[in-house]
Amino acid sequence: MYFLWLSQLCRGLSRPLGSTTQPIWGSVSRSLVLSSQRRIPEFSSFVARTNTCGELRSSHLGQEVTLCGWIQYRRQNIFLVLRDFHGLIQVVIPQDESAASVKKILCEAPVESVVQVSGTVISRPPGQENPKMPTGEIEIKVKTAKLLNPCKKLPFEIKDFVKKTETLRLQYRYLDLRSFQMQYNLRLRSQMVMKMREYLCNLHGFVDIETPTLFKRTPGGAKEFLVPSREPGKFYSLPQSPQQFKQLLMVGGLDRYFQVARCYRDEGSKPDRQPEFTQIDIEMSFVDQSGIRSLIEGLLQYSWPNDKDPLLVPFPSMTFAEALATYGTDKPDTRFGMKITDISDKFRNTEIGFLQDALSKPQGTIKAMCVPEGAKYLKRRDIESIQKFAADHFNQEVLPVFLKTNRNWNSPVAKFIMEEQRLELTRLMEIQEEDVILLTAGEHKKACSLLGKLRLECADLLEMRGMVLRDTSLFSFLWIVDFPLFLPKEENPRELESTHHPFTAPHPSDIHLLCSEPEKVRSQHYDLVLNGSEIGGGSIRIHDAELQRYILATLLKEDVKLLSHLLQALEYGAPPHGGIALGLDRLICLVTGAPSIRDVIAFPKSFRGHDLMSRAPDSVPPEELKPYHIQVSWPTDSEAEKSSLNHHHNPKS
Ligand code: ASP
Repeated sequence: MYFLWLSQLCRGLSRPLGSTTQPIWGSVSRSLVLSSQRRIPEFSSFVARTNTCGELRSSHLGQEVTLCGWIQYRRQNIFLVLRDFHGLIQVVIPQDESAASVKKILCEAPVESVVQVSGTVISRPPGQENPKMPTGEIEIKVKTAKLLNPCKKLPFEIKDFVKKTETLRLQYRYLDLRSFQMQYNLRLRSQMVMKMREYLCNLHGFVDIETPTLFKRTPGGAKEFLVPSREPGKFYSLPQSPQQFKQLLMVGGLDRYFQVARCYRDEGSKPDRQPEFTQIDIEMSFVDQSGIRSLIEGLLQYSWPNDKDPLLVPFPSMTFAEALATYGTDKPDTRFGMKITDISDKFRNTEIGFLQDALSKPQGTIKAMCVPEGAKYLKRRDIESIQKFAADHFNQEVLPVFLKTNRNWNSPVAKFIMEEQRLELTRLMEIQEEDVILLTAGEHKKACSLLGKLRLECADLLEMRGMVLRDTSLFSFLWIVDFPLFLPKEENPRELESTHHPFTAPHPSDIHLLCSEPEKVRSQHYDLVLNGSEIGGGSIRIHDAELQRYILATLLKEDVKLLSHLLQALEYGAPPHGGIALGLDRLICLVTGAPSIRDVIAFPKSFRGHDLMSRAPDSVPPEELKPYHIQVSWPTDSEAEKSSLNHHHNPKS
């Protein structure tokens, strides 16, 4: 399977753009612009091989070739299968006396040793072809062989079908990278990034600019890593994104910037996150939301792998309010329905205790979600665990209603649901036999968020039990727009924090609310969602120094001194500007269908932020800390125990 992918990946490079029938070599200027799309890469230039293991076919019969690769396996000291990134090839070990030394090398080298062989491409004897192997019609009749380096006993077999723990894979990452899956993921990543560069720089005049990774603390946002400096008490910060620099570049007249930017966030262990990760970071002057959206749609369309269906643009969009009300989240997976419905009006006179309670409160609502064929697929214990989750995490009650084939509503409260309500709900939510309806009540956001979580939970359960709900070959992109500019802070809901970041401009039609009701102001922030994951976000920025100062100081209560350079810059003719950043790791993870972003990063950190191969972070001797004027304050035994317990409770750590 992977061989097929890889050969498609390699062929992809030589294909003309999309499915157009343009000749491969167009006019000189066109072919310069699109050179990497059109030329077949020379995988064997400058090196000690003539071909790759995966590329030889019957058309090469009779050719003298030299190949370099790893020994994948050996059969009865007669055949050897050699592997490189491109594929596998069968090598015939010579049996005649005169080639005894070649035979010795090829028979004695352990599996995964790296060898160089030279010989002739010959056909396999009739009946011995292997149609499953792209090189299955031919083999190499070896004349000379060189053991380039032997391999000692491996910690695990390299073959993709051999299961290994992630810890072991990360510990021996350099071996894990030899797998076809990792080769495919990293090569596809490189190819997409190449096409993105081409689209941005060559087709649209963007400038690739590197910005510093040693920077200073920024207010708000994610927690940053600190880097000690030799000045007592002074630290650099590793930037969580090049946000300030890219805005300053706009002030500097570099009006179309992009960078494949490394970003750092010290946010502890979170699935699907890495302490260091990569963004395709973009900023433009004189642009509005629709300009950024079209740019990104074009960028993704252009860089989309050739072996997938082309993307259809424009991507649909949805307001934040609608996403929350219908999907309970700002990153809805729109590949399937199970939408949330507000049924408060239908239950105004209900006799069901907790629904009645909720409605008697000023912000009270009743929400429902229909789980298709839930009565067939969901077990009692699933419902119990759903109810426990709702109680533990949302302090909410969830009421299941099973709709059995006889159309009786089976629930502890069925008798309290009037015939009229039943019909209304059936109509409103398109309920069918064998469905389960989950009801909950409470404040709008909380009730929607809970059902949003249960929606995904139920989808996983239904799929586990065999229902096909989400088409895994589908890429469902969605823009989320009209976010609130501020959200109440989690730890102190009376204070506000930026939903995106403090440089995001308010929605022009809501500016008048900024002083009186800032929590009602919508912003010019947009997120790009793919199959339920946020893969990008950005905004039109504030370019007015006064407005920026007011938002930072008065509304967000931030220390404006930390940002005086940016505020000052805005006063010197800063152009209107906006931008976006795409999370490259997550995007590639979704495109390749990898189970984790660690599978699309060559050397990722573990869930706890450790490099299991080199054991970073590591301790340093006290004398090396001296120039930085810092000292370790070692945790007490009980503190250390607490922190290790925390890690242990975390099954993914
Ligand atoms: N710097 C932002 C982020 O990392 C993206 C942007 O607003 O362009 O989320």
